[in-house]
Amino acid sequence: MKDNKARLIPLFVITFCIASLLGFFSGRAIGTKPEADNSEPAYGYELQELNRDLMKHMSAEGTIHVIGHKSPDSDTVCTAIAYARLLNMLGYEAVPNITEKVNNETAYILEQAGVEMPEILDSAAGETIFLVDHSEYAQAAEDMVDAHVIGVLDHHGVGTLNTGHQVVYHARPIGATATIVWMDYMNCGLEIDQKTAYVLLGAILSDTSNLSVTTTTDADRKAVPALAEIAGVTDTDALFNTLHEKALSYDGMTEEEILFSDYKEYEAGGVTYGIGLINSIDEETSKELAARMKNIGEEACTKVKAELVYAAVGIRENGEKIDYIIPLDEESREVFEAAFPNYDEYDGTSYIFRTGLGRKTKFVPGLTDYLSAHPHE
Ligand code: MN
Ligand code: MN
Repeated sequence: MKDNKARLIPLFVITFCIASLLGFFSGRAIGTKPEADNSEPAYGYELQELNRDLMKHMSAEGTIHVIGHKSPDSDTVCTAIAYARLLNMLGYEAVPNITEKVNNETAYILEQAGVEMPEILDSAAGETIFLVDHSEYAQAAEDMVDAHVIGVLDHHGVGTLNTGHQVVYHARPIGATATIVWMDYMNCGLEIDQKTAYVLLGAILSDTSNLSVTTTTDADRKAVPALAEIAGVTDTDALFNTLHEKALSYDGMTEEEILFSDYKEYEAGGVTYGIGLINSIDEETSKELAARMKNIGEEACTKVKAELVYAAVGIRENGEKIDYIIPLDEESREVFEAAFPNYDEYDGTSYIFRTGLGRKTKFVPGLTDYLSAHPHE
């Protein structure tokens, strides 16, 4: 739409002028060429300028909706908030959205940060979309196949998303999508404010379990203290412990709400399967949760698109990682046992993995490989 571009151009000009002025007074601010100084990294300023310019070539018409996956977690929600702000700073009209109600942990982060709860996007049809923390239609907001997707920011495998046009595709093997956002602020030479720093920090601590999961990188480890300083958080371990408590509180939730609070679907070999992650503190709690999931198993299976459905109850306390995998019906159980014969124990309800069966690192790759090699009848 021409109108829209015409409106955006003055915005770019104003933004650039303000940035230049700030640079003039501070000498080091964003958008300013540093004084000749051999200690400055070569290309630093030029790269920031080029990165900003590259981000201004997206075919965005109207408002960009920045949105994460269904069963929203803190990384997906906080990344959308922080990235929408980055797009705003680049001159775009962008808003963060969510697919469904957020969990207790995410609600706490937003409340502490003083950030507004993003609105739910009921349908993505016809909307301009920037996807974060996923690229799988099965996990996306309703009608995503009919959306105009202009970008993806992610730390998962490449999903089913397909576009004929050019997109921003920024994926990294990293602990949290929020860490990629932190890097993008630096890549573009943009300042992070206190609220944004807080939501990004919360997201990284949550997605990396306080930098302890195997996908954690040096970038995640550097992002945490850097963001904590801006956010004014002096004890990130304490913040993580609070987040962990919130994540574990299934108080007042029904079995179904627990199963679907962090549920994702995948496709492989013509089969759709779903995995709902559940947090637990010890083996006793895991067994209780496993029994509750098995109880609603058959019924839950009829309510989703997936043909195979699993609950994965994980203990992540004191560096331990034990996973209880509960197939929710007999067919799911048969496929699971064939795909993962190396479990440590089967107690009649759960297949137990004493060194973990991480959804992203082992469960999904293993089941996808198996289903692709054994097309299902
Ligand atoms: Mn996520
Ligand atoms: Mn994530």
